[in-house]
Amino acid sequence: DQLGPTVCVGEILVEIVATTVGDGFLEAQPLVGPFASGAPAIFISQCGRLGGKAAMVGAVGDDDFGRVNTDRLKRDGVDVSTISIDPDYPTGSAFVRYRKDGSRDFVYNIATSAAARFGWSQAVADLINRSGHLHVMGSALTVPSARAVIDKAVDIVKARGGTLSVDPNIRKELKLDADTERRFSMLVAAADLLLPSGEELERAAGVEGEAEAIRRLFEIGVKEVVLKRGAEGATYFGREGDRIDAPAFVVQEVDPTGAGDCFGGAYLTCRRLGMSQKEALTYASAAGARNVMVLGPMEGAGTQQELDAFIASTERRP
Ligand code: ATP
Ligand code: MG
Repeated sequence: DQLGPTVCVGEILVEIVATTVGDGFLEAQPLVGPFASGAPAIFISQCGRLGGKAAMVGAVGDDDFGRVNTDRLKRDGVDVSTISIDPDYPTGSAFVRYRKDGSRDFVYNIATSAAARFGWSQAVADLINRSGHLHVMGSALTVPSARAVIDKAVDIVKARGGTLSVDPNIRKELKLDADTERRFSMLVAAADLLLPSGEELERAAGVEGEAEAIRRLFEIGVKEVVLKRGAEGATYFGREGDRIDAPAFVVQEVDPTGAGDCFGGAYLTCRRLGMSQKEALTYASAAGARNVMVLGPMEGAGTQQELDAFIASTERRP
């Protein structure tokens, strides 16, 4: 952690959630929000809450949706000085409604919002030049502005002895163009910590089967893999063939969005603060579980004290 803050680059959004379960938004209906959101923002919020040095690179509009995010991240202890405020475009947004089967309908405004309008600047360069860790979402590679920052930042952070974590965050079926696919593979290979969820493991490794995928990832240079399995828990895999399974906590799931990002932010921060893999996994599992208990993608992100209380009072699945 002495090397400098953890930096996350990417989309900052508000999320507005339908309070009833059903199909889409074709009729007037009750909604709740805006909630601060965006996978990279959720990740960095959890880092800041746990007391890790953290900074966010992204953009919001000059509107209340933007202020919901910057105020929130500031409160969490995140350095927001490299979140730029776009004078012309509104803050990105996602309207979401859950269907009966747990799948979701979305109405997004991201690509044509402030969320996609940031880039390399002197302030960003100054931050990256003093940062110790970079966290990247694979999905950010499809956003040109994020890609430009990530390309430069990975090299700089690595050159100064910093580390990289990657959440592939790309659906298994998603086909990328050849250039993006090549960038994605390079990013994965450079990861000190890879945080796939479910089938993203095989997507990132480019091979079928869990054991094969893990073997392949270590072969191409990944240092540590933590596989997220939702309510089934999570598993740490080390290069020496070591493995730790972390059972999930037993909770009532209200809103699954953001679990993986809280989990990742907690795991990374605990590791950077010097904890063992096992201890970090416990905090990460608690952070993910706690976050699904409340509505809003980062409303359940916890401080160390809150996570300690949660761990002490919550059962784990056998
Ligand atoms: P998302 O992309 O929706 O943010 P993800 O798919 O990346 O999530 P998950 O595997 O859903 O990540 O969740 C991360 C971790 O959070 C899990 O490994 C688990 O420890 C915890 N978790 C998630 N959902 C639950 C749940 N319903 N009950 C208990 N723990 C959960
Ligand atoms: Mg995920």
